[in-house]
Amino acid sequence: MVEELNPFKIAQSQLDAAAKIMNLDPHALAILREPKEIMEVRLPIIMDDGNVQVFKGFRVHYNNARGPMKGGIRFHPQETLDTVKALAAWMTWKTSLADIPYGGAKGGIICDPEKLSKNELQRLSREYIRAIYKFMGPDIDIPAPDVFTNPQIMAWMVDEYERIVGHSAQGVITGKPLEIGGSLGRTEATGLGGMYVLREAAKEIGLDLSKSKIAIQGHGNVGQYAHKLAIELFGAKVVAVSDVYGAIYNEDGIDYNELMKHKEKTGSVIKFDGCKSISNEELLELKVDVLIPAAVENQITGKNADKIKAKLILELANGPTTPDADLILHRKGIPVIPDFLANSGGVIVSYFEWVQNINGFYWDLEQVHERLDKNMTQSYHDTIETAKKYNTYPRMGAYILAIDRVAGAMKVRGWY
Ligand code: GLU
Repeated sequence: MVEELNPFKIAQSQLDAAAKIMNLDPHALAILREPKEIMEVRLPIIMDDGNVQVFKGFRVHYNNARGPMKGGIRFHPQETLDTVKALAAWMTWKTSLADIPYGGAKGGIICDPEKLSKNELQRLSREYIRAIYKFMGPDIDIPAPDVFTNPQIMAWMVDEYERIVGHSAQGVITGKPLEIGGSLGRTEATGLGGMYVLREAAKEIGLDLSKSKIAIQGHGNVGQYAHKLAIELFGAKVVAVSDVYGAIYNEDGIDYNELMKHKEKTGSVIKFDGCKSISNEELLELKVDVLIPAAVENQITGKNADKIKAKLILELANGPTTPDADLILHRKGIPVIPDFLANSGGVIVSYFEWVQNINGFYWDLEQVHERLDKNMTQSYHDTIETAKKYNTYPRMGAYILAIDRVAGAMKVRGWY
């Protein structure tokens, strides 16, 4: 049992648990328990006031047996190397489960983007690329957005990379703005992909989404689209949402467009007209049909899992549920659609973007959505089938399937 909330220890314990069930070759396990390479970089930035501030950044290459390393870059004040390592491991399983030809990586800079000016943010983004560019490339390592990074930051990073290498290389980063080779449908891809698997899971447990109540923790790029699309696609009621400042609740449902106007004005979801203010903890424990954690890791833990009343959990965040909470939820009979299945829409459309960049031929939105739906639906059913075959829960099913593919690639390469 992993008592502490160290995300990398959690990632390793999940891997160990799956390895045991599937009887994974111990040599394959030894390779998969640790990242292939880790970069730790110092980024000196001249701030607007003339002072120099030195930021610390990381890039972790976890595994590339199935293809180039792939994964986002987070800007976060509490970033740690162990978190980035865990996220890089989860990317490895995510790309494998989605069966797209990538390995797994993740990057992070310890910083608070809210406290940086736009120019400082641009300098920091460019400096990060100067520090790691030798270890990136469309067939080496392909970063993308994640927590507190966005298409604009990706644009500065691609630009810096291309200036250094002296040629165009759009496929080096995904999640770019449309103007420089971004894909249609990338922005909403994680939220939309989540809705496709939610649709499949609801069918399976006999939940009518048009009559369902949903609570969403987090209202960033992912949570926001989950809110919008759950209403648009299913006619569901989103009764609670939250951000870092707090949570709001309205049993009749929270209007998406009105809330976005309020956010534009105030910078937060809190104090929205007609809603009761509640805490983030209370949001997680609401009596709803679907709970969607779409913020950060370690939100559903051994401490609160017993109090969760949702009928289904859709993990759009990375690592929101700890292993001890997982067991409690499983015992309570609450199905959890695991993170690296539920939120894989983002990296799947990143893959589509990279394919379009390499071919120089661009798809329409319909094609992106159709292929995303097909991929997510397939991954969902493969996961459930594997879980049933091994008599385990969906997260372990997803792990077994993903690990088996990575191990297979390592095997034919002669790594063990
Ligand atoms: N940051 C996203 C994730 O965690 C997307 C990664 C990507 O597109 O490479 O899946």
